[in-house]
Amino acid sequence: RERRALRHAGPQAGSRQVFAIMFPDLFLDILFTTLKKEMPMRVLVVNAGSSSLKSQLIETDGKVTLMKCLAEKVGTPSAFMNVSFAPDFQKTTYNVADMPVQECLAKLLDILVDDPESPISSLSQIDAIGNRVVAGGEYFTRSVIIDEAVREKLAICEELAPLHNPPADACIDLMREAMPNTPQVAVFDTAFHATMPAKAYMYPLPREYYEKYRIRRYGAHGTSHRYAAQQAANLLGRPLRDLGLITCHLGNGGSITAVNHGKSIDTSMGFTPLEGLMMGTRSGSIDPAIVTYLMRREHKSFDEMDAILNKESGILGVSGVSADMRDVLAAAAAGNELADLAIDMYVYLIQKAIGGYYAAMTRTDAVVMTAGIGENSAELRERIFAGLAHMGMILDHERNDVTGQIGVNRIISIDDSPIKICVVTTDEEVRIARETDNLVGQLHE
Ligand code: ADP
Repeated sequence: RERRALRHAGPQAGSRQVFAIMFPDLFLDILFTTLKKEMPMRVLVVNAGSSSLKSQLIETDGKVTLMKCLAEKVGTPSAFMNVSFAPDFQKTTYNVADMPVQECLAKLLDILVDDPESPISSLSQIDAIGNRVVAGGEYFTRSVIIDEAVREKLAICEELAPLHNPPADACIDLMREAMPNTPQVAVFDTAFHATMPAKAYMYPLPREYYEKYRIRRYGAHGTSHRYAAQQAANLLGRPLRDLGLITCHLGNGGSITAVNHGKSIDTSMGFTPLEGLMMGTRSGSIDPAIVTYLMRREHKSFDEMDAILNKESGILGVSGVSADMRDVLAAAAAGNELADLAIDMYVYLIQKAIGGYYAAMTRTDAVVMTAGIGENSAELRERIFAGLAHMGMILDHERNDVTGQIGVNRIISIDDSPIKICVVTTDEEVRIARETDNLVGQLHE
């Protein structure tokens, strides 16, 4: 393509032509890099979870989404997969009962090639694949192109996020088979937290466990915290490096990060994404003695205990209603006391975490709310910040209202609030696509 472009450069190219004749290799290099930058890259983003698969085909140039896919309840008899294409994103639902996540992805590839509404008719029209990987351990402090050595290290990282990493790895393997010549990138949730100091990432355990097993805090939701911090800096109109921000990712999973001068200095998720806040089905931090006590009293196996803490606790465990905050809010409004208690606990633990990170920073300019609950629930934000006004985080009730504001990044504190409160819409898939584009683009430079 670049040779053709050169041939057609024409007489108007002038000095460029002279340069091309004198230094043909250098000219081609520069031309190719320029063309590459100008060519939109189509990235298939794969975000595989324990029971879900999210995927988007994104043209990174204008951040245009061409296809969206969401499979839920993956691995169960009631699993289904919604796929939709630009421009109108009319969903078609497919039955993916009992299929593991990589089979759902294989089905999506077939749909991408066969569906007349799909913008592509061959997998070769996908330029790169961006995979979300939850845990990168100490091996990965930034996104990487996946090669054999990286794949081996990914396998070692599986035990750090046993619910999330194995399905992501299974999808990476499937794509390596289906599209062996297409570059794949791994974007890690942990990478943003690589800047934490040892006092934040070490646990007060005998040192040998760090040395033998690298047991330490890794954190998670890194791409979301990084993005939320940058968007908040844009809202505040100041460079990120001058700011102290507390970013709150509150979705099914939840974590809070202290972002001091643009760097993560501490975060609530730990060795695994189980630590920290109370979440949809995860307990978050509890007295570790409860684990051994329960295992002894109830004769629970390691796997059973893992399931209790990861899948049966949190908002679901306390409310007995649902892991979904919308259901629990509705149940509480209808008078369910356990649902109300679950929300009270959820709010209180977030308030304490924000207070803790305030103490960890050298300055706090803003608290940033993002992800499903953080972005959409005015009620939860009211309840959280009602307890934090004395710390200088003062909500403006009208600005907090969501009517007509869903998806709008904005400041929701009063003008005189010493610490601002921001709402930022997270779009994990777009961020993964852009990281992938950057890395794959460098391959050609
Ligand atoms: P995931 O971690 O799966 O990406 P999300 O960021 O989509 O999760 O967040 C899902 C959570 O957000 C669910 O608990 C859902 O109930 C909650 N949520 C979404 N919209 C609202 C809303 N309007 N009010 C309260 N909670 C909401």
